[in-house]
Amino acid sequence: MRRELEPWLTGRVVRSAELVDAVPGPKYARLARAVGQRVAAVGRHGKFLLLPLEAPETGGGAARDELVIHLGMTGVVSAEPPVSHLRVVIRFDGPEPQTLYFRDVRRFGRVLIAPEGVYDGLPTLQQAGPDALAPAFTPEGFARALAHSGVAIKTALMSQRPVAGVGNIYADEALWRIGVHPERPARLLRRGQVEALHGAIVDVLMASLEAQGTTLHDYRTVNGAVGAYLERLAVYGRTGRPCPRCGAAIARIVVGARGTHLCPVCQPRPRSRRGSRAAPRRAGGRS
Ligand SMILES: [Zn+2]
Repeated sequence: MRRELEPWLTGRVVRSAELVDAVPGPKYARLARAVGQRVAAVGRHGKFLLLPLEAPETGGGAARDELVIHLGMTGVVSAEPPVSHLRVVIRFDGPEPQTLYFRDVRRFGRVLIAPEGVYDGLPTLQQAGPDALAPAFTPEGFARALAHSGVAIKTALMSQRPVAGVGNIYADEALWRIGVHPERPARLLRRGQVEALHGAIVDVLMASLEAQGTTLHDYRTVNGAVGAYLERLAVYGRTGRPCPRCGAAIARIVVGARGTHLCPVCQPRPRSRRGSRAAPRRAGGRS
C-alpha cells in the first residue's frame, strides 16, 4: 500500500480532510490540521503508514505533523469511493485522482494527525521495535529483545515490540517455517532459532509483498486488487488440512487471545519447565 500511495500522494497539498460516517474521537484525531499542508513523503513503520506533512509557512526545522493511517482489521484505502462504510475523505490538489477514501467496516482502523515521532495515543507504534524490512532489524537486536521477553514467542511477535510489522498471519507462517511451537517462551529460543526466525519473517513478508498481500476478507490494494498471498499460506486458516511439509493435520489453538495455526509434528509443543501449572512435574515422565 505504501508503494502505491508514494507516487500518488508525495508532494500534494491537503485541501480538505473530513469524517463521513464516523464518530469524532482519538481514532480520527486532529484531521483538520492537515489542511494546507504538503505530503513530504509516504513512509511506513510496521503496520502504520506515516506521511510527514510540511506546513508551507514554517519552512525547515519546525516540528512536523504526520498523517498516520492504520488499517486495523477491515480498513481499505482507495482512490475510488466505496459503496459503504466510508469513514474519512481526504482531498488533495494536483491531477486526478484527487481523493483518498478510507472505508472501515469494523472501525478498528485509524486515520489521524500526530506530531511526528510523538505517538501518545498510539502505544503500539510508540513501543514498536524496528520495522521487519528495515536495516535496523538485525538478528542481534532481535535476539536481545527476545531474551528480555517474558511471554510466548507468538505473543512477543504480536506485541510488535521485538519487531514491527508481523501480524497474526505472518507470525504463524514464520514460526511454521522454522519449526517452533508458538507457545515456546520467547527467551528460550536458541540463537540458531532466532536467526532462522529473523530470516523467515523477512522471507514471508517479502513473498507476501510480491503477491500484493493477503486478502482474507476486506483487504484490497489502493487500486482495488485482492492480494494473492492467501493461496500460498502453509498453516494460517488451514485447520485440519495437511501440512505442506509432513502431511499432518494443521491444528488451531489460541495464544494470547489470537487464533494460532501450527503443525503439531513440525512444531512440537515445548516440554513444560518450571512454573508450569498445566503439567505438574512427574519423575521420569516424558508424556
Ligand atoms: Zn508438518
